[in-house]
Amino acid sequence: MILPIELVDLGYIIASILFIYGLKMLSQPTKARLGNGVSFLGMLVAIVVTLLSQGLDFSWIIVGVVIGSLLGLVSALKVKMTAMPEMVALFNGSGGLASVLVGYISFHQGADMSTASLIAIGVTVVIGGVCFSGSLVAFGKLAEKLTDKPVLFTGQQVVNVLILLGIVVGTVLFVISPSVENQYLIIYGVIFLALVLGIMSVLAIGGADMPVVIALLNSYSGLAACGAGFVIVNKVLIVSGALVGASGLILTNIMCKGMNRSLANVLFSGFGSATPAASGGGSEQGEVRASSLQDVYYVLEAARSVVLVPGYGMAVAQAQHAVRELGDILEANGTEVKYAIHPVAGRMPGHMNVLLAEANVPYEQLFEMDDVNPTINTVDVCIVIGANDVVNPSAREDKSSPIYGMPIINVDYARTVYVLKRSMNAGFAGIQNPLFFKENTRMVFGDAKATMQGLIAEFKE
Ligand code: NDP
Repeated sequence: MILPIELVDLGYIIASILFIYGLKMLSQPTKARLGNGVSFLGMLVAIVVTLLSQGLDFSWIIVGVVIGSLLGLVSALKVKMTAMPEMVALFNGSGGLASVLVGYISFHQGADMSTASLIAIGVTVVIGGVCFSGSLVAFGKLAEKLTDKPVLFTGQQVVNVLILLGIVVGTVLFVISPSVENQYLIIYGVIFLALVLGIMSVLAIGGADMPVVIALLNSYSGLAACGAGFVIVNKVLIVSGALVGASGLILTNIMCKGMNRSLANVLFSGFGSATPAASGGGSEQGEVRASSLQDVYYVLEAARSVVLVPGYGMAVAQAQHAVRELGDILEANGTEVKYAIHPVAGRMPGHMNVLLAEANVPYEQLFEMDDVNPTINTVDVCIVIGANDVVNPSAREDKSSPIYGMPIINVDYARTVYVLKRSMNAGFAGIQNPLFFKENTRMVFGDAKATMQGLIAEFKE
């Protein structure tokens, strides 16, 4: 069966509308799941319509769909929440590779290609190639198969600029070359350089900055798909690629803003290469006061308002369910409970929201940093659960600090602050945190989950 062109176009319009609605819903926690379903439906419509738009032999397509679906299903079921960025890196890489293949095969099969088609092919294989190899390196770093420190060497920027120049010149030659044999040679060269550029640019980035890079690579995979849409003249691929490209860029921007760093700083500064000692991470700044679980219990028992501030350590400890249980106990005890979420707490956007939603924390108890900060000086107790940089007052007070200017949750303004972590070690930025030495701060050392469970036990006794 071959669908008439009018029905194909109608199907593509419906798919595009579903994508846009799905994306819009993803921005609200209560509708995010539904949004995912709506986008899935859009993709299903797009795939079915495309398959029926021309008389295809389905045998190999079915084999591909079965293998791909199985791989996707198994990895989605197995992936841990903390390994999500790695999985997204692999998805981006697959998108990039697919675009390179579409671009190359269209050139290989095409006869008498127009200049516009050749430009589209050139752009698609370049962005797709950078995205593919860059995503593989990002995956390697996040999965700790490669060093997570930035790999830097003298003259690196110059080498990168030269590769980029090579790619631009190669692409122009590919488009204007009158000889098909030469075009083959050139496109191989351009793909090779794009792969090298992807590796070089991501190797230079510190492991913990990788989530920002992954958002950017996600955007590249969308742009490459959009280019592939132009190559094979497929409207829905152009629309969906452009949506992914734009949303990836918006996300990259949100993450950079949350850290108060420019994208150039993330990409080129080699952040994270400094040793903790070099950035003040090792130096103590006063007396550290530790509290026992029983002391914390007495204070919490009498507190009228408590703000819980989760960070990366909560994800590592998988303490979200215990945190919620303690929150419920405090509420039942007549305490006002809020969860304060910093936009870059954890290691990926929305990391804390996802974990707290998994533990069924009511949405109305989740507050953004800007909503909590204005009244934080009236709060009795702030409990910092495995967060460090996002509550570091140096960002507000110390102009020499690498994180100076990054907005933070001002937990040190609360009457009492409990910091739950295992040691005096630094967080992602590798710097000391003066919060730990303040008069009103008490450290509660140990794994965050164990500490939470200990507090719950105190209340239950
Ligand atoms: P940090 O990385 O600053 O600190 C996490 C703290 O958790 C550590 O100091 C560690 O201390 C503690 N910790 C680790 N494991 C446990 C455990 N099992 N139990 C208790 N504590 C534990 O995290 P934040 O969330 O405060 O900040 C996030 C950082 O990541 C920011 O600097 C941000 O810029 C950066 N970032 C965030 C991105 C995002 O999208 N969210 C993207 C890229 C970077 P100890 O070892 O002593 O236990």
